[in-house]
Amino acid sequence: MATRLDGKVVAEAVREGLRGRIQALAARGIVPCLSVTIVGDDPSSHIYVNSKDKAARDLGIEARTFRFPATTTQAELEAHVRALSADPAVHGILVQSPLPKGLDESAVVDAIAPEKDVDGFHPHNVGLLALDRPGHRPCTPWGVIRMLSHYGLETRGRKAVVIGRSDIVGRPMANLLLHKGLQGDATVTVAHSRTPDLPSVVREADIVVAAIGRAEFVKRDWIKPGAVVIDVGINRVEDASTVKGYRVVGDVEASVETVASAMTPVPGGVGPMTIALLLSNTVDAAERLHPVG
Ligand code: NAD
Repeated sequence: MATRLDGKVVAEAVREGLRGRIQALAARGIVPCLSVTIVGDDPSSHIYVNSKDKAARDLGIEARTFRFPATTTQAELEAHVRALSADPAVHGILVQSPLPKGLDESAVVDAIAPEKDVDGFHPHNVGLLALDRPGHRPCTPWGVIRMLSHYGLETRGRKAVVIGRSDIVGRPMANLLLHKGLQGDATVTVAHSRTPDLPSVVREADIVVAAIGRAEFVKRDWIKPGAVVIDVGINRVEDASTVKGYRVVGDVEASVETVASAMTPVPGGVGPMTIALLLSNTVDAAERLHPVG
């Protein structure tokens, strides 16, 4: 039976590691400040924003949430982001995705000062990631690396298959696994919707990271016995037996735990790591913007 890689435990360890750093900043009169901007009224985006706001406050990070109507223009939104970029009291800038139709998300991200881009989506940070140079890393794949490190799972010299090539998970995940280090130095394959015979590609993997967005897509018989399986997927499936009428499942069949050596549950695996690493990136930003001495 696979070791359960518990995202709640590791996220708490990440937060614990931030407390002393936040106190050290406070002693110098600096309160790390995360701004979260949301446009429109997508209900799940509002839930995400509220949980980011609460997680920041709970840790002593100032959270400034800006809510804009769906009628906001591109120019207004970019001006807002530029003002945050120029505000010395703000250390982290996050613009909640997706933006309403008609707004150009890339142009908004380009308006974020790279040193405050705590999502790690600005082309400057994407370049630094590709070059294995210090910069803000996207929170979800960065959380996966932190999880592997917490459990002492090394990827060095092993075969990793990342399923999915999105800008926020798959691609940065592959880049991180290529970096030098114990949770890097992997031989990385990136599979995606055009990959033929996905099962045989996955069967080669010592480490599988699934970031597809399709419920229980990766099957038990695709997994090499003893592989480490990281399930990034968050999918709702109808379930009349539950109060809500649905339950949340990953991209990987739960029965994979009988062949894998270690596996993240869904929920409670990668999910809690993402917000923890967002807070971590915000503290990093505050420290870099206010160097000691
Ligand atoms: P996305 O839709 O942007 O990308 C999905 C990727 O899967 C694409 O690159 C696509 O090529 C690939 N894909 C689709 N169908 C495939 C197939 N049949 N075979 C192989 N590859 C296929 O999604 P995303 O934003 O990367 O998110 C992926 C999943 O991770 C979603 O379930 C999302 O909810 C979840 N997610 C979780 C967190 C978290 O905090 N845990 C954060 C971000 C995303």
